[in-house]
Amino acid sequence: MSAVIGEHIPLWAIVFITNTALLGVIFLVARQFEKTFPAKPESIGSVVTDWKLAALKWTSSQLFSPMAKACGLILVNAAGAGWIQLRADGWWFLLSALVVILTLDFVAYVTHRAQHKFPVLWSMHSLHHSADSLSAVTGARHFWLEDPLFSICVLPILGILFKIPAEMATPILLLYFIPDSLAHLNIRLSLGRFALCLNNPQYHRIHHSIEPQHYDKNFCKMLPLMDMIFGTAWAPGRDEFPMTGLPSREQPTGILDGIIWPLRHRLSWAH
Ligand SMILES: [Zn+2]
Ligand SMILES: [Zn+2]
Repeated sequence: MSAVIGEHIPLWAIVFITNTALLGVIFLVARQFEKTFPAKPESIGSVVTDWKLAALKWTSSQLFSPMAKACGLILVNAAGAGWIQLRADGWWFLLSALVVILTLDFVAYVTHRAQHKFPVLWSMHSLHHSADSLSAVTGARHFWLEDPLFSICVLPILGILFKIPAEMATPILLLYFIPDSLAHLNIRLSLGRFALCLNNPQYHRIHHSIEPQHYDKNFCKMLPLMDMIFGTAWAPGRDEFPMTGLPSREQPTGILDGIIWPLRHRLSWAH
């Protein structure tokens, strides 16, 4: 049967359709949870802005990704690709996946710290933090230039360090992508003592909080272990669901504002 499908539909189309369907199901279930157990009343204006900015990011990604990936590839090849050959046979698969995930999460953690530390990076990242109402789409609300920059400056580190077997790429990306996306859900769910096991909506809400005691806390993308190692972990209390947004309450007013956000946003302001 799969051979018949494979003869008529290209593999990339099967992967695209499968991923789109999976994301669609996850999104619909997530929205239902947000409506039933909201952490805070939803701001429709902020959610609509989430959608607009996510569409802008997606469009720019289609335009710039091939060029950014090509630049990243040049860097990887120049540095000598795949210093460490990872194995994917038997139990090696789990060990190799763990090595890649820990490295990826460490690199993402350092990048995220830098985005809050350096004004030029914060001027872009602050767009993500301007959401005064988190939602299932806030995870895609990022400045349009950040993804290409990540592909050129950060992702090549993994390509230089590891030769990753092709069959490991999709499971690792899914494993990594899902907790980060779900972390922005506006749901009142407390994991109690397990909040420090895996990034989750309450844990990440602390990172978006407008309350000063939460500034520069909970940076991790997947594993709070990174925050614990570097002293930036904040274990949320059972009823700790703070308001989110920029302390200045600055908001983009539309697509144009999203395009020029770093110019509009003060370069010198950071937290
Ligand atoms: Zn941040
Ligand atoms: Zn976030």
